[in-house]
Amino acid sequence: MTPIILITGATRGIGFAAAGQLAAHGAQVIIASRDQDRAAAAAEKIGRGAASVTLDITDPASVEAAVAQIDTQFGRLDVLANNSAIVLDHYQSLLDLKPEVLLETLNTNVVGTFRVSQAFAPLLARSSAARIINVSSGAGSLNGVSQAWAPAYCISKTAVNMLTQQLSLALPEVMVNSMCPGWCRTEMGGGNAPRSPGEGADTLTWLALEAPHSLRGKFLKDRAVIPW
Ligand code: NDP
Repeated sequence: MTPIILITGATRGIGFAAAGQLAAHGAQVIIASRDQDRAAAAAEKIGRGAASVTLDITDPASVEAAVAQIDTQFGRLDVLANNSAIVLDHYQSLLDLKPEVLLETLNTNVVGTFRVSQAFAPLLARSSAARIINVSSGAGSLNGVSQAWAPAYCISKTAVNMLTQQLSLALPEVMVNSMCPGWCRTEMGGGNAPRSPGEGADTLTWLALEAPHSLRGKFLKDRAVIPW
């Protein structure tokens, strides 16, 4: 059966690269963006029957509408790739960080990812082998990696990793994992990053299509489990 795969924030960067890879493997890709025109244009660029949906992960009404659209159009969801995220505090010291910036970052990266996963759980339950992939970051790792870069973003990605573990427990039938794409040349990653968006998307694509369904509640990079 053709897997139906929703990727949030997929009009550019790692999400767009993943969409291209997944469509090339024959998946039914659904490109999500806050902007319907950009989503439709990205889907057209991908071709291979890619669909599009408007989705702002911070807006409950938008999430509800996206669930309704995908229910009507496809009747189920096999893979949810929570790829959307923001960085608002690139080179800021924690001591200068405004609490509002931390809140906004958590609201998108953590609460948004939670909201979308919760809202799509009923459609995922109709899949025989559902998967959720949370695009996290090594920046959220507690495994001895310490950096003063983007503290709000780093805190949010640590929370995304715990959200992954909690989702995995709450949805025992669903294969839920976090992955780190590595530092990639995207709008978020900047032009000096060593990896292409496609290289960053590789583990997402593998988790969506090939990784064994028994792999659950893990954090991965380059198709291998890494410590949290
Ligand atoms: P980009 O900034 O290029 O893309 C991020 C996407 O997030 C945008 O396309 C945007 O979609 C979407 N987005 C932002 N806010 C919202 C929102 N409220 N609702 C829905 N979508 C939203 O980032 P990357 O491609 O670089 O990053 C993709 C993922 O990879 C992120 O989770 C990031 O944290 C992670 N990552 C990236 C690294 C890198 O080096 N690039 C390194 C480690 C992790 P739109 O504007 O169309 O709605």
